[in-house]
Amino acid sequence: MAIVLMGSNLAYIGSKVSELVTRVFLSVKVAEIYESQFIDRRLVDDRRRQLRAKEVAVVLRRMSGSDIVLGLVDYDAYVPGLNFVFGIALPSLKVAVVFLARLRTPSHRLFTMRVFKEVLHELGHVFGLDHCAVPRCVMNFSNSVIEVDLKSMFFCKHCAKKLAMKGLEINRKYIME
Ligand SMILES: [Zn+2]
Ligand SMILES: [Zn+2]
Repeated sequence: MAIVLMGSNLAYIGSKVSELVTRVFLSVKVAEIYESQFIDRRLVDDRRRQLRAKEVAVVLRRMSGSDIVLGLVDYDAYVPGLNFVFGIALPSLKVAVVFLARLRTPSHRLFTMRVFKEVLHELGHVFGLDHCAVPRCVMNFSNSVIEVDLKSMFFCKHCAKKLAMKGLEINRKYIME
């Protein structure tokens, strides 16, 4: 996996996310972390002042030949039909992106938790999971930061089993009781 950071001062959260990903997904290795200080203005919808999420995912995917690309982008984003998205995953391209702007809060700890949940959620999609009806499962769909805060960082047994069937082993500490 490659992690691509877009925005300033993301090195710390990037390293924390890298640790998280290798801690949770036992067979995944983070081979490289790229940093780009600048948001690519061509990807911004000027009228909405938001990034076009899908285009960002495609552009980040092209930045690395790694098996999976995970982007952390410090800007707000949308897809047509939705006011905003916290993240996007394109499983066919093996790319996931989490947009940090709406997850920010004065508490660094809470911000990190939100980023962790959204990273695991979007990577879950990359690994073939759909949204999950179990309320606290990390694959539950979140429409607001309140909902992000309410769910856990863990995969329910159902989702963990689906991942295992795809050959993806998860750290048992990240599977709900
Ligand atoms: Zn989702
Ligand atoms: Zn689940």
